Amino acid sequence: MTQAQSRYDVVVAGAGTVGLALACALTDTLGPEAGIALVDRAPFGREPAIRDIRAWAIAAGSKRLLEVLGVWEELAEHAQPITAVDITDSSLNDAFRPILVSYDNRVEGDEPATYILESERLNTALLRAAQARGSIALLGGHAITGFAIDEHACTIDVEGDLEDGTPLRTPLLVAADGRASRLREVAGIKTVGWSYPQVGIVTTVRHEKPHRGRAVQHFLPAGPFAILPLTGNRSCVTWTEDAERGRAIVALDDAGFLAEVHKRFGYRLGDVELAGPRASWPLDMHLARAFAINRFALVGDAAHGVHPIAGQGLNLGLRDVAALTEVVADTARLGLDIGSLTALERYERWRRLDSMLSAAAFDGLNRLFSNDFTVARTARDFGLGLIERMPALKGFFVAEAAGLTGDIPKLLRGLRP
Ligand SMILES: Cc1cc2nc3c(=O)[nH]c(=O)nc-3n(C[C@H](O)[C@H](O)[C@H](O)COP(=O)(O)OP(=O)(O)OC[C@H]3O[C@@H](n4cnc5c(N)ncnc54)[C@H](O)[C@@H]3O)c2cc1C
Repeated sequence: MTQAQSRYDVVVAGAGTVGLALACALTDTLGPEAGIALVDRAPFGREPAIRDIRAWAIAAGSKRLLEVLGVWEELAEHAQPITAVDITDSSLNDAFRPILVSYDNRVEGDEPATYILESERLNTALLRAAQARGSIALLGGHAITGFAIDEHACTIDVEGDLEDGTPLRTPLLVAADGRASRLREVAGIKTVGWSYPQVGIVTTVRHEKPHRGRAVQHFLPAGPFAILPLTGNRSCVTWTEDAERGRAIVALDDAGFLAEVHKRFGYRLGDVELAGPRASWPLDMHLARAFAINRFALVGDAAHGVHPIAGQGLNLGLRDVAALTEVVADTARLGLDIGSLTALERYERWRRLDSMLSAAAFDGLNRLFSNDFTVARTARDFGLGLIERMPALKGFFVAEAAGLTGDIPKLLRGLRP
């Protein structure tokens, strides 16, 4: 049985990266006297049944949020800044692979626009931060199965008994329960979107020569093959492949899999060896038709899922965290109801259009680059050629990827809301 009270100011459902960050941000903003519960179907602090071997491209804006939450300090030595990005779409049979566009990946003040950080390190640091806050009730091992909304509160059903057997009640329930969000379904919020005929393969390799912080985006007909520098002479390979072929590649023995990696990786960093396991993820694009209803809001993958071509899915989720925290802070400061539709509509207006535009942009990029049609190839090579000659345009794209354009919530600017 878990130590729990039954009434909280906010209940966050799902303790993935987004849910953990939100629970910490809300606690810092509303103060330790606020009752924040973080509920997950998995028990806290136990080795997950399936390890997450991915590494995230963390945008500068997201890094600032992690700084304000006090977790970046312990992560900094493990986060590899990307200093430059090389883009190519040359054929694997070409003896020489010309770079179409190369750009410096720094924003104003010489700050790196992106860092590569292993997912498990980030989640471990965020869980430690949530535990250290003391006032967050961590209710692990309790899947949320349903909830009912009345005028004043949400009454939540969880699997397994809580301390006194009474159901959780809260004026604001936030769903951070990922792509297949059960809470989104219970709330009756539909999504628009589609599955991609591709999978995302991820593995870690060690190479002979240093990468010097350079990332490579190699657009191949089946999808992009990204080489993302990690600390040491290591890189994370995030590779989009035709679904059937991708699953077959992942099932190869180590030697066969490494041969497939090497064929795409090339020899620019010398010899390459596997430095970790491999896995593949199905890919889809989805967008919730609403991000909020009375007393209920969606954040992270529960609200939107995007193609990983630009490494922005989690960054969009952290943007949700920053925007929702600011809306809750402003509403609470005025003494108003933080779960009211009026308050949550402001969050929805702030985040839904931006998420929609991002999802459409990444979908368009995937369609433009993941093919070998002569017309598409000519158009994109021409477009990239233009970008290569226009430093201002390159600077704009770098600032976009850094999450530093548009109406940026305070936490992404490194400020407390
Ligand atoms: C191959 C690949 C590469 C990617 N690379 C990048 C990248 O480089 N950069 C980037 O920004 N993004 C990237 N993404 C996207 C990123 O993975 C997601 O956007 C991010 O992990 C979503 O986090 P989340 O916390 O919203 O959801 P999740 O991580 O899915 O967390 C959901 C949580 O909810 C819990 N849960 C589920 N149901 C319930 C329930 N009923 N009750 C209680 N708890 C529940 C789960 O146990 C889990 O802890 C990538 C995605 C893929 C597939």
